[in-house]
Amino acid sequence: MPNYDFRCKKCDHKFSSRVSYEGKDAVTCPKCDGKSEQIFTGFLYAKSAGSTTGAGGGCSSSNCSGCSGC
Ligand SMILES: [Zn+2]
Repeated sequence: MPNYDFRCKKCDHKFSSRVSYEGKDAVTCPKCDGKSEQIFTGFLYAKSAGSTTGAGGGCSSSNCSGCSGC
């Protein structure tokens, strides 16, 4: 199951959660239980780095075009 990063819209708390693709729209903040939205920092970093050796990677496929599913 992929690990997504989220930010709480209510208290601005940032956290990571392992959820299904469908479930990431219903993730709530572990602190205040507020609605949270997905953030894409790791996503962008991995793309601009152009390397598979970065921390938090996990996708080693050269055919990968953004790690949205792997
Ligand atoms: Zn919160």
